[in-house]
Amino acid sequence: MSNQKITPRKQNYAQWYQDVIQSAGLAEHSPVRGCMVIRPEGYAIWEAIQRDLDLRIKRSGHMNAYFPMLIPQSFLAKEAQHVEGFAMECAVVTHSKLENGHDNQLEPGGPLEEPMVIRPTSETIVNHMFSQWVQSYRDLPILMNQWCNVMRWEMRTRLFLRTAEFLWQEGHTVHETRKEAESETLRMLDTYADFCEQMLAIPVIKGRKTNKEKFAGAVHTYSIEALLQDGKALQAGTSHFLGQNFSKGFDIQYLGRDQKLEYAWTTSWGVSTRLIGALIMMHSDDKGLVLPPAVAPQAIAIVPILNKKQDDTDIRTLIDQLLKRLLPEKAIKIASTDRDSIEKYIINENTNQQIVVDWRKYRPGDKRYHWEKRGVPLRIEIGPREVAARSCMVKRRCDNTQASMQIDDLTPDWLRDQLASIQKTMLDKASQFMQSNIRHANSYDELKHILKEHGGLVRCFFEPNDEIEKKIQEETKAAVRNIPFDQNTSIGRCIYTNMETSTEVLFALAY
Ligand code: AMP
Repeated sequence: MSNQKITPRKQNYAQWYQDVIQSAGLAEHSPVRGCMVIRPEGYAIWEAIQRDLDLRIKRSGHMNAYFPMLIPQSFLAKEAQHVEGFAMECAVVTHSKLENGHDNQLEPGGPLEEPMVIRPTSETIVNHMFSQWVQSYRDLPILMNQWCNVMRWEMRTRLFLRTAEFLWQEGHTVHETRKEAESETLRMLDTYADFCEQMLAIPVIKGRKTNKEKFAGAVHTYSIEALLQDGKALQAGTSHFLGQNFSKGFDIQYLGRDQKLEYAWTTSWGVSTRLIGALIMMHSDDKGLVLPPAVAPQAIAIVPILNKKQDDTDIRTLIDQLLKRLLPEKAIKIASTDRDSIEKYIINENTNQQIVVDWRKYRPGDKRYHWEKRGVPLRIEIGPREVAARSCMVKRRCDNTQASMQIDDLTPDWLRDQLASIQKTMLDKASQFMQSNIRHANSYDELKHILKEHGGLVRCFFEPNDEIEKKIQEETKAAVRNIPFDQNTSIGRCIYTNMETSTEVLFALAY
């Protein structure tokens, strides 16, 4: 059993993040620069995210589809801003199969007639197909989503938060009217915000990106921004109103109700495995991962404190009784698990969430630590002392509190309430953190001062401008995260130009 130490956050935050991932067994760097191997423990979190978000996407009328990973290079050039934005980030396939040269050397075979781009996002191929599917207003709307991997040749990568290959969902829709497409864009932004708050216990700020920060090819990009423990912001998801840019580039025209040919209106929206990075950075502590119950693969780890020298029949009997009380009627025991290893019970057929019993003959401290650093929301410990009192020690991972409970008081309802209470505690804590780290700046000097002293989000009057934003970023490393929806009605002075403006933005250093 590995007992790798986790670097404290105060000592080295970046190393702490790596250590948390490593000690929870979530992911590793792959031999290919910037790519990652997602291990089963990490993938189970992704599956929990997928499961819930997929339902939300389907309940709002979308259906899943799948498009190929390779896109003809010429497709990218069909939307001018899009190609400009993504040209530097694409991996391109230029040759077919490898050929055997001399001395076991492999060499590229013949060049392809046309190079293929490995999708950095799929607007081009999707809209190419939309142009064939859409003829009349009767074909609209098309509400589609795909779960897949994409590749962007990122230079500065970090596990989950920014990788060259990442997993995501990308929604693509086509509409008859501008209004319909705009409301779809905002509806999906709301879906993401609700999902982050309810499932991941991550509060987010919804807003519009500035022109400089918007998606290449979008008319407007909207984002949800989270604030992580170290005071840096993270773009957790984006939703793009693409106007008619792609429908003009890909010729998506329909015969309208008035028998006139019109260009359609399109949207796209996505969240990625970055959300797992957000989860880790938002909630974890110096002991390791802390998971919100809604996406935790295991709800409870029961840890019997076994003493090699003593007969442990009583502990086993008490745990049997505890399981009988705690497991719902429909619980399924995973067949391959047993009383010499880790016994696993599925307590929720829909989410596959489990209760595990760690029967392994390790030192109790090692077993505790094993589940603690994996972020399991609840741990129940039963040793000889608990047997005498028919009790158990219940420990909450989110705030490291513990309480002695009578076995007879534990029921599936109690468990449900506990998990709900932990979920709420985590969201409340994250919300308080965010609220207390939004500061106001009245001048550029004040902005710089706050960024240097506190980090966090800085709210100020600012008239978005590509050139000025670039300068500010060079000088402070901070960028406008978004123009939050909750604008005040007052007028102020732009912190950079001192001109009157009614626009308030959020600046922050970001991942
Ligand atoms: P975009 O298509 O650029 O709007 O990206 C959609 C979402 O994918 C963003 O809001 C991020 O949450 C996420 N994302 C973008 N780039 C990366 C990356 N390199 N690694 C992981 N997630 C990413």
